[in-house]
Amino acid sequence: MIRPHLQLHDYVEPVAPRQAATVLLLRDIDGELEVLMTQRSHTASFAPGVYVFPGGGVDKGETYEQAAVRECIEELSVTADIDSLRLQAIWTTDRDMSKRFVVKFYVAPMPEGQTPVADEQEQFLPTWVKPAEALAMHQVKQFPMIFPTIRTLEWLAKFDSTAAVMAHCDANVPAWDSCPRSAMLGGKPHYYMESDAPYGELELVCPDGIKRHALDWTHDAPVPLLKHLRRLTCGNPSMMTGPGTNSYIIGTVDTGFIVIDPGPYGTYDLSTPDADKAHVQRLFDACSGDIRAIICTHSHPDHSPAAKPLQEMCLQANTDVACRPIIYGMKNLPTSRPHSEFTPDVQIKDGDVLTLSSNDLTITLRAIHTPGHAANHVCWALEEDGLLISGDHILNGSTTVIDPPDGNMTDYLESLDKLTRACEQYDIQYILPAHGYVLGFAKDAIAKLKAHRLGREAKVKKAMQTMPNVALDELVALAYDDVSPKLWPIAMRSLAAHVERLRGA
Ligand SMILES: [Zn+2]
Repeated sequence: MIRPHLQLHDYVEPVAPRQAATVLLLRDIDGELEVLMTQRSHTASFAPGVYVFPGGGVDKGETYEQAAVRECIEELSVTADIDSLRLQAIWTTDRDMSKRFVVKFYVAPMPEGQTPVADEQEQFLPTWVKPAEALAMHQVKQFPMIFPTIRTLEWLAKFDSTAAVMAHCDANVPAWDSCPRSAMLGGKPHYYMESDAPYGELELVCPDGIKRHALDWTHDAPVPLLKHLRRLTCGNPSMMTGPGTNSYIIGTVDTGFIVIDPGPYGTYDLSTPDADKAHVQRLFDACSGDIRAIICTHSHPDHSPAAKPLQEMCLQANTDVACRPIIYGMKNLPTSRPHSEFTPDVQIKDGDVLTLSSNDLTITLRAIHTPGHAANHVCWALEEDGLLISGDHILNGSTTVIDPPDGNMTDYLESLDKLTRACEQYDIQYILPAHGYVLGFAKDAIAKLKAHRLGREAKVKKAMQTMPNVALDELVALAYDDVSPKLWPIAMRSLAAHVERLRGA
């Protein structure tokens, strides 16, 4: 649990939501699925003029299903059979809205022989649309819709018939139960579901849902995440580094600072010249030079080389011994690739602890040795707030490359299990990766990651059985057929790690 007084903003309790129900009436025309939508009144107080599915509030004494059926009659003069309704999803209005609803979305076949007639009060223009066409019209701003409608149509577009949708929803298990969060991106509000990459970051920074956080990647200044936690992203974006390497700055002016993963320097191939030097200077400035420790999660060239120059800058600026940062981490093993040499001042071992403290704040970072991506990889748990700094072992928005011999798939999977145990031990909810936004639902994220790896392993195993003794560059086409061929050269490294593990090497 994050210590509440370390949140950036005072918490505002969201309004309690009221119950509502919505129906997706479906039909098949010429072998294609259509859904009935209506346009809301242009004078409506909420979402005027947008296209929606019929529905409304649940009255006292009514069930969600009864409300859904009643709204179909009131708004469209359609009498739907209550037994034909199947639950499709549950949406709860964003936390920052002044009027909030928890809405159950149902699917039902359009009853035979009926024609929808709009009430012309709240709803106008009953329109049958193919989900993909509605989405295409929305793209060119001809069909206004709100976020839950868009996500529902994207889901619906995967089906080709009413029967397929109904069969899918037969178990009455919702496809999702979501309370979206919003953020600013490119100066405009954007919405995200729990399964979207930025959701965890929004939950961490704005737990009450008030739009205060911008998701634009910037290299010029650190992004505050908590009062004692900032992220400065180096200007080294690329296919391998995503938006760039995240350096985490932990501490306050009272405790002094720890910098984790200072980033690339010198030898590393940078798209922007001197991005490395600028980054080191910004790290120094963000800490007013008071850096007590520099931690490297592992020795790869986008993480550790800036440790020495940053240390040097601090030494030159400070005569105070307390402000001389020590470089912590694990030395690279002989298996590591070129440009991955790293020798820390102090060698870390599993379970070691580094602390920062002032009169009213203690920060404890505990080392968790996690070989797999790199043999010398160490994750760090910030114990008091349940945060995990995951380096490259867990990323958000990209997949960790396992590159033998320094990378090892069995080690990688075992390290994931170790991190799951750490999540339980330190009540970890958020993961701070070296590339990408903060990840929420830490334990679920790790479980998904493991399932993804094992799913890939099953594909590799099957491909190896289909084509025994085949070269890796042919195997990759089978085992990674769901991945763009552009990524195959990188995927081949992780493929080699899977093959090594399956052959028991
Ligand atoms: Zn990296």
